Amino acid sequence: MNDALYRECRLCPRNCGVDRVAGRRGVCQETAVCRVASATAHFGEEPSFTGTRGSGTLFFSGCSSRCFFCQNHQISLGESGDALTPDELLETARGLVAKGVHNLNFVSPDHFWPHVEWLCRRLREEGVALPFLFNTSGYQKPERVADYAAVIDIFLPDFKFADASLAQLCMRDARYPEMAMEALTKMVALKGFLFPWDPEGRETAARGVLVRHLVLPGCVENSLSVVRLLHREFGPELPLSIMSQFRPMPGCREHGMLERPVSEAEYEQVTDLVAELGFAQVYIQPGSGSDDFLPDFDEDEPFEGNRNRA
Ligand code: SF4
Repeated sequence: MNDALYRECRLCPRNCGVDRVAGRRGVCQETAVCRVASATAHFGEEPSFTGTRGSGTLFFSGCSSRCFFCQNHQISLGESGDALTPDELLETARGLVAKGVHNLNFVSPDHFWPHVEWLCRRLREEGVALPFLFNTSGYQKPERVADYAAVIDIFLPDFKFADASLAQLCMRDARYPEMAMEALTKMVALKGFLFPWDPEGRETAARGVLVRHLVLPGCVENSLSVVRLLHREFGPELPLSIMSQFRPMPGCREHGMLERPVSEAEYEQVTDLVAELGFAQVYIQPGSGSDDFLPDFDEDEPFEGNRNRA
């Protein structure tokens, strides 16, 4: 594995320039030792990815976005995760493949990209033909997308903020809307829209892009702007997942905002606009989502919904 990119790390827009091989940490809080908080056949993604056998999901520890409300705060902002050598990472991925999952799903892979790229290439050399999925906050360096696309089949980016001031408040980078849009444009240009589109998951996705947006309580205007922006840039064929599952996390109290779930009325305002603009390939979350997929990374299997499938 080539760890040169960790030496003066500029893998993400934070541009820390720290030597992670020497054990230094930048904003993502991770050294060059890969840490994984969970590797599981996961049923909490959209049916296009979970199908009937689950999405082979590797949750990487740390995050470069560090939104204070992160629903995976134990791993993105906390300490959860086990250090894995590259060979152990490979073995872990092989274990997921052996379970018959529909894809390998790398969650927050940006800051461990040298490991993930190496892993993808090794698995392909071994004949693993499953789609590889890049599951991300949307906070990317646009110039890195081509590298990702060389080994990745499916991009699953969030588009969190159209409102730069909200991005500044939540993740301390007002550049998010601009950077996320530039990266997303490259993802779509290189991979197209998610294909095949089967919202029931009988035929799982093989390639392309689906954009997620998590509606935040009291921030409907941001969500409406996201939807309008995506429509303007990509038209109504862009596959979307509009999520209602937000739950207040410990950081919300500390920041004195986002301290409640999203109301049905707020969520409906967003989905009404999605319908009005003619988006046809859309995942909508009934109610306010299920707590079955609210993770507890202190458990061996963090998701109750996955434990129930075992
Ligand atoms: S990956 Fe981590 S250390 Fe590297 S630039 Fe991003 S936040 Fe900084």
